[in-house]
Amino acid sequence: MSADLEPETYLRRFVNTADAAGFRVVEYGTVDTLPLLVAEHTPANPRMSIYISAGIHGDEPAGPLALLTLMAQKWFAPEIAWHVLPLLNPRGMKAGIRETPDGTDLNRDYRAGSASETRAHKHWLHHGGRHYDVALFLHEDWEATGFYLYEMREAGEPDLGWRILQAVAPVTGIDQSPEIDGFPAKNGLLRPHADSSLETVEHWPEQLFLRQNHASLSFTFETPSAMPVSARVMAHLVAVKTAVNLLLAPRIEDAFEI
Ligand SMILES: [Zn+2]
Repeated sequence: MSADLEPETYLRRFVNTADAAGFRVVEYGTVDTLPLLVAEHTPANPRMSIYISAGIHGDEPAGPLALLTLMAQKWFAPEIAWHVLPLLNPRGMKAGIRETPDGTDLNRDYRAGSASETRAHKHWLHHGGRHYDVALFLHEDWEATGFYLYEMREAGEPDLGWRILQAVAPVTGIDQSPEIDGFPAKNGLLRPHADSSLETVEHWPEQLFLRQNHASLSFTFETPSAMPVSARVMAHLVAVKTAVNLLLAPRIEDAFEI
């Protein structure tokens, strides 16, 4: 599997694969001539509603490739409502860079909305009045020595972060740094902004915007860019599948009506 992705080819493959998996692919915007796409599956009475996005940084191919793989596997359970956004920054992918060609880091732009990619995405989210049971964001990190994740959740929501990390550990290992990206980390788990008002944060990543408006439970998955792309894709597959399987699993106490 090559990491040198070309957005037109990738998106064409994604559209065909999503179509074959029974998804409806919608264009919520265009940048230059490149489409901004979401694959939707929205049954009448869904068991839950899940959002997954990737490719907000153009030099992080493992997330988009993992979503293409999940589509090819027809992994998405039909009783769940899905919104899958495979490539938020196609211009960045085309240029092989993290930001847009104008130098905007889209994952710091969700408060200001200065880039057309961000504005189109926020408009699509608001327009649908969308709320998700969980939102997942697929990323990569050149400085990481292993997998790590950002968890955001309300009190009483399932505590899944540790279990996702446990599942991914055999694939890429876990980044054990005590501080990652300026946030305290413990065994690869980061809970940024858990105790502070989001209003004090100036440059919102996508996760904060979703947290504020569309999903109280969310995870950002980060794979180590220095490892082979096949391992990074596998890490994302394991993380996504583990998170969703844990959310779907009936709780043991429910089974016994304790
Ligand atoms: Zn990233």
